[in-house]
Amino acid sequence: MMIPDRSEYLKGLAQTGQKIMGVLPALYPRELLWAFDIHAAEIWDPPGEILHANAHLQTTICPIVKKSLEFILKDPDIINAGYLFPHTCDSLQNLGTQVKDLIGVSLPVYTFYNPKGSFNNTTIKYYRDILQNFQLTLETIYRPLDPEKLLTACELSHKIDSHLLAIHQARMTNHLSLSNEEYFKLMRAQEYLLPADYLNLLEQVDILDQPGESLKTRLMVSGILPPTSKILEFLDELGVSIVADDLLAGSRRIPKFSMDAPSSPIDYLTDRFFVLPPCSTRGGDLDERMHHISTRMKDSRAQGMLFDMVKFCEPELFDHRLLVKTLREKSIPVLTLETELEHHISGQDKTRIEAFTELLFDMVST
Ligand code: SF4
Repeated sequence: MMIPDRSEYLKGLAQTGQKIMGVLPALYPRELLWAFDIHAAEIWDPPGEILHANAHLQTTICPIVKKSLEFILKDPDIINAGYLFPHTCDSLQNLGTQVKDLIGVSLPVYTFYNPKGSFNNTTIKYYRDILQNFQLTLETIYRPLDPEKLLTACELSHKIDSHLLAIHQARMTNHLSLSNEEYFKLMRAQEYLLPADYLNLLEQVDILDQPGESLKTRLMVSGILPPTSKILEFLDELGVSIVADDLLAGSRRIPKFSMDAPSSPIDYLTDRFFVLPPCSTRGGDLDERMHHISTRMKDSRAQGMLFDMVKFCEPELFDHRLLVKTLREKSIPVLTLETELEHHISGQDKTRIEAFTELLFDMVST
């Protein structure tokens, strides 16, 4: 399975004249953008040193915001249709305001204020309103929305979700012969591939008829992004398989269960938003989140939990203490690492991962 390189792929697309919008994490109505022929290139952890962004930000801001701003300040050619800032957290909301009003970029800057809290009449109405407002905003810049195109975009999104759900299920039950690194590379390709190309990639994934050989240790990972490739490689070397995730860039963006095929786009998009798994960035009930995590751990037979925490991520830190406490009360081993999205793995982290893995091996063999 060949996954195109992100930068080369986006450069190639921009050269063909494709409209490309830079989209900050994490939840946004991608289908609306597709219906306007705008490709969403998500910006989570662009490579490169942080040189100029620090001058605009407090020191206690997470590296995702810092790296994203550094990327935006470079005024990259591949982004030609503006930037979209969903309201994921206060830091991203502030960054959107700063980029729009203070720093200033030559491209349009859009915001999308996702509702916080759970599914009820008020949040549903609010979500429908912001979808329609976003549609009107795009119509003033582009053209009136073609309802057929939105329906087609929703159908494409539904197919992608169905494949992702099947792949997640296969991962949990050993029906996928991908290493940790290969698996998360596949998951993250949706951040930059055209939806049709991503669907094509997912269709090539080989889901085994019979469960494959089980690695010695099974782990669930929670956080914003998957662990860096160095950590994933190291876990592969140690014989540890990440069998389930509670990641904002991963399963928290896929509906909890298979939805009916779309017939009314606005209904479909609204329903889809409210059947996403619980997430620290959407507020809501922590017990519900804990229940969801426990169910995933049970279904995947994960023996331990790795919290890979982005430094200074307030929403995640808010839930983390109670999640750890509850898991430990259930005698589930927990390891917490902190990341600044660096590309190496520190000696200290290696030692902690090795010790944690040994603990899990011992549990399995007793
Ligand atoms: S890592 Fe946390 S604080 Fe940073 S952008 Fe993501 S949700 Fe916001």
